[in-house]
Amino acid sequence: MALEKTFSILKPDVTRRNLTGKINEKIESAGLRIIAQKRLWLTRPQAEAFYGVHATRSFFDDLCTFMTSGPVVVQVLEGENAVVNYRNVMGATNPANATPGTIRKEFAESIEANSVHGSDSLENAATEIKFFFGDIEIVG
Ligand code: GDP
Repeated sequence: MALEKTFSILKPDVTRRNLTGKINEKIESAGLRIIAQKRLWLTRPQAEAFYGVHATRSFFDDLCTFMTSGPVVVQVLEGENAVVNYRNVMGATNPANATPGTIRKEFAESIEANSVHGSDSLENAATEIKFFFGDIEIVG
């Protein structure tokens, strides 16, 4: 197993409902260490750039509106197999399909307001971490 870093966002539905601590308890209980963290209100250009891979999808506009509707908490997580481990803790994109005990099953409001983002590969994790954090902000 390899020690990896992955990137996490607690989305606006989480900050609105004051669930930051509850979600991070799930993350930490899964053996993931929060080694960088900040609370931001994304601008529209930031949201569009971050989700650029989805620019042609029908839900892109709605997704960017949602992601700029309130503060988010961006985090770097570290642990063994962190990318896959965190994706498993998150659960399926659509909470209706998520496994019991996952963050999305317990907390997500809808397929869009689904509480958390997590990188889907080690390569994307590195890109997403760089998008939000400088090296001196990441303290393992
Ligand atoms: P993820 O990797 O599980 O977050 O899923 P995707 O990369 O496929 O989608 C990115 C984000 O877009 C999701 O987390 C949702 O917030 C949103 N999203 C995905 N599918 C839909 C959809 O069908 N409708 C809407 N409104 N939002 C969606």
